[in-house]
Amino acid sequence: MKIQEADAKSLLLAQGLPVSAWEVARDPEAVKAAAQRFFASGAGRVVVKAQVLVGGRGKAGGVKLASTPDEAREVGSRILGMDIKGITVRKVLVGAAAEIVKEYYLGAIVDRASRRIVLMASAEGGVEIEEVARQNPGAIHRASADPELGLLAFQARGLGLAIGLRDPLLNQFVAIAQGLFATMKANDADLVEVNPLAVVAETGADGKPQQRLVCLDAKITLDDSALGRHPGLEALRDLDEEDPTDAQARKLGINFIHLDGTIGCMVNGAGLAMTTMDLVKHFGGEPANFLDVGGGARHETVRGAMELILADPKVRAILVNIFGGITRGDEVAAGLIEARAEQSRRVPMVVRIVGTNAAEAARLLEEARFETAASLDEAAEKAVALAKGAAR
Ligand code: GDP
Ligand code: MN
Repeated sequence: MKIQEADAKSLLLAQGLPVSAWEVARDPEAVKAAAQRFFASGAGRVVVKAQVLVGGRGKAGGVKLASTPDEAREVGSRILGMDIKGITVRKVLVGAAAEIVKEYYLGAIVDRASRRIVLMASAEGGVEIEEVARQNPGAIHRASADPELGLLAFQARGLGLAIGLRDPLLNQFVAIAQGLFATMKANDADLVEVNPLAVVAETGADGKPQQRLVCLDAKITLDDSALGRHPGLEALRDLDEEDPTDAQARKLGINFIHLDGTIGCMVNGAGLAMTTMDLVKHFGGEPANFLDVGGGARHETVRGAMELILADPKVRAILVNIFGGITRGDEVAAGLIEARAEQSRRVPMVVRIVGTNAAEAARLLEEARFETAASLDEAAEKAVALAKGAAR
């Protein structure tokens, strides 16, 4: 689950990382009011940033500076409602603008190969790290954290030195890198990215100019499977931006993943779903989705799953493959019959149901004139043929 910059900054702040104050506003007047507060507390300029769950907001025109409250409102009204990579901007972050001296990149990911959290740093900040990885992979430095000991200070210092930092900024960097690791651990995150981690010029408490490292942007992806351990984090899910099919699948309690093909698959069990997809490919077709209705699916779940499959206009045929154990074949058949009675779009379907109550299922399906198959091979082959037939 991706969370918005403002929420990601809250999680960084909770680990003691340097983040400047911000407010979130949903309309231009609120942007102006927030800007007024930042100007009143000494800001020279304010920054207004689109809150959408995609990168490259700056390039898309979703990050702008303003010098007066009215200008902030004006900038806010331009950003709110803007379309960034297909997403409508519904809220913006407002804060005092930093005076940037230099931009660095700092990120933490779970490296599956080494099964460790790996920190990555680069002096080429501000640009997307994927771009740096392509153009200048040598500019990305890494440190792998020990699962027990965490990211040790000498490792963090090594990273900081590698990207050219020297004290006192280097010391700040060590704390920030360790804070990123702590943020990963505390929230079961898959990714924590600060880009840019910026050196900013400020006036110190003593009135003298000083430089400091500040997390100017924050991107966090949480591990969906670990959300159960963090009830508070579920509240950070941005329903504005959630794909409606994902939301629906979550409500139904089924695993649904969109793919690019034309054959909708409804299967019970993740392993069987993988096998089914393999067979579809084997017979020359492409699955439109991965869908595991889970064990013991009731007819309402089957009906809901069918709606999800049909919501994809690319679907030309549907393959239902149920291996009844806890799941009862007749229950699935009833769901399929209900679904077909309601569906707005007729798509050819082939059904294979074996196991618990398969005979009852077969009788129901035959009465309702469903196309059935005895084996999975046959079902997959038929579905591929049906999809090709329908495509013509
Ligand atoms: P992204 O484009 O979605 O990654 O959004 P960022 O928050 O990283 O902002 C993009 C760019 O806008 C940054 O790389 C900075 O160059 C610039 N920017 C962001 N915040 C500030 C700020 O407070 N002051 C100044 N001067 N520039 C900023
Ligand atoms: Mn950024």
